[in-house]
Amino acid sequence: MYSKTVNNGMITITGVPASPGIVFGKSYCYLKKIIKVDKLSILKNTIPQEIVRLEHAIERSEYELKKIISFAANQVGKTEIKIFEAQILILQDIILLEGIKSRIKNELTNAEAVIDSEFSKYQSIMLNAKDEYLRERAHEVEDIKNRIIRNIQQEKLTSRIDKNVIVVSEALTAGDTILFSRNKILGFATDGGGITSHSTLLARSLQLPAVVGLKDITKNINHGDLLIVDGYDGIVIVRPTDDLIKKYNQEKLRHFEFEDKLKTLRDQPAETLDKHKVILSSNIEFIDEVPVILKQGSQGIGLYRSEGVLISKYSIPTEEEQFIEYDKLAALIAPQKIVIRTFDVGGDKIFFDDIHEENPFLGWRGIRISLDMIDMFKNQLRAILRASSRKNVEIMFPMVSGFEEIIAAKKILSEVKQEFKNKNIQFDENIKIGTVIEVPSAALLAGDLARELDFLSIGTNDLLQFVLAVDRNNEKVSKLFNKFNPGLLRLISQVISQTKLQNKKIAMCGEMAGDPLATILLIGLGLEEFSVIPDILPEIKKIIRSITLAHAKKVAEHALSLLTSIEIQNYLKEELKRIIPDIPLSQ
Ligand code: PEP
Ligand code: MG
Repeated sequence: MYSKTVNNGMITITGVPASPGIVFGKSYCYLKKIIKVDKLSILKNTIPQEIVRLEHAIERSEYELKKIISFAANQVGKTEIKIFEAQILILQDIILLEGIKSRIKNELTNAEAVIDSEFSKYQSIMLNAKDEYLRERAHEVEDIKNRIIRNIQQEKLTSRIDKNVIVVSEALTAGDTILFSRNKILGFATDGGGITSHSTLLARSLQLPAVVGLKDITKNINHGDLLIVDGYDGIVIVRPTDDLIKKYNQEKLRHFEFEDKLKTLRDQPAETLDKHKVILSSNIEFIDEVPVILKQGSQGIGLYRSEGVLISKYSIPTEEEQFIEYDKLAALIAPQKIVIRTFDVGGDKIFFDDIHEENPFLGWRGIRISLDMIDMFKNQLRAILRASSRKNVEIMFPMVSGFEEIIAAKKILSEVKQEFKNKNIQFDENIKIGTVIEVPSAALLAGDLARELDFLSIGTNDLLQFVLAVDRNNEKVSKLFNKFNPGLLRLISQVISQTKLQNKKIAMCGEMAGDPLATILLIGLGLEEFSVIPDILPEIKKIIRSITLAHAKKVAEHALSLLTSIEIQNYLKEELKRIIPDIPLSQ
């Protein structure tokens, strides 16, 4: 959540923590040159020359991107390189290129103006998308546009910067990030950018601390100013005092020491000191995340956000396309399990159509859409069932608010199963099904829903905003958006106990499962599976392995008796610090 304070020349800005780590250093202000494109008329007899200018620029751009790839190949993984390969594919797109050439011929317009207009069209469609991931991709389209235009205008690329600096910029493209890393930069801080932007993903692979979404950092800094970038908490401090530098130095050291210790935990079970075992799995959205979670010692995938397959497509992928993706995932993670959540479109996520809703979070979302678009739903269920023959796939329905939705979804699933039996198609007949508990009415019905299902998984991200009536994107009420709200905790406790009364499995896939402050409490409440973001997995395991179930139960009991979020938070912080004194917690 953005905030800024100014104190005696020192400025502290909070943005979005994008890549973990703490660095100090001098700032390097990298303000992008605005590329100027004039629309000019050309003469008919200069068309061939204009086409040659265009073709040379495309060739040169491809050469530059290949150079970036060869450099990047030694620095980051295969996934990250795909960003640049995709840009090369755009350059090699014959239809696009022919379209541009015919516009040059037909409109008698200079190459850069046509490139500008053609690419800006795509860019603005993407910028207006409701989905953050697509909006972020617009910057990559801009990058390729600017690269071609710069090459048409024969401007030299200026990515050479000083060594050992923190780059401060309005926004960085993936290409910038890779090229800057050649100069051993220390980290970066940008006005714009989101957690899913390619430059952010690259920063994480390059292990460069980064904070994005700082809105106006470029306006608050001079070239060469001393900076602290805290990529854990998303804080950037401009012109820090000596005391602060000392404090952050200690913090940095603590993080190093702690992370070092965590490495040894990878192959240890997630069990308490008194041998109570829980499952520690991961939330993922893209197949490329699987190697990371395996490296972290994850016990399968507790939440696969299948919207991942929609992101790069402009239409809903076919059953076959979905099957290929789900099957690859199931094969990669086998023999461990993968819980595939059916499409949770709507709300703040992707939309199939450009529909406008007054309250999208309360609108046409998740299972509601699936039950209204039965063909699409059946296609997805078919794809999931086909991928289930290894018996390691489970299905989970999102945004369920009532019993009848579960009955309806189960009926559709059994129709698809029957169809498969009739056609002799292999699938796991006993495939487990569950639902995300993220709507208060479903939470209150947990016991009854559990009777109908194999498992429930608490989705605290949505549940929190609905239980508290707090829009998680509204800064004015952000201080109320606290997962340690006593009302929410009591509801979670009820969901866990009601599900267990039915002898069904209870998991949590919302962010609370990955909050170290909540671990002891959740163990004490009887949670059986924690599905978390891969980065935090070793830390949560460390906490689980440092406590006893008996003690965690006492902690949970006391926490549930407290009446304010702040008391609960302080109490849990004290408990955690007592058990693991060197654990680095956010301020
Ligand atoms: C949740 O709401 O807690 C959840 C896990 O789903 P998402 O964050 O995808 O809405
Ligand atoms: Mg949700």
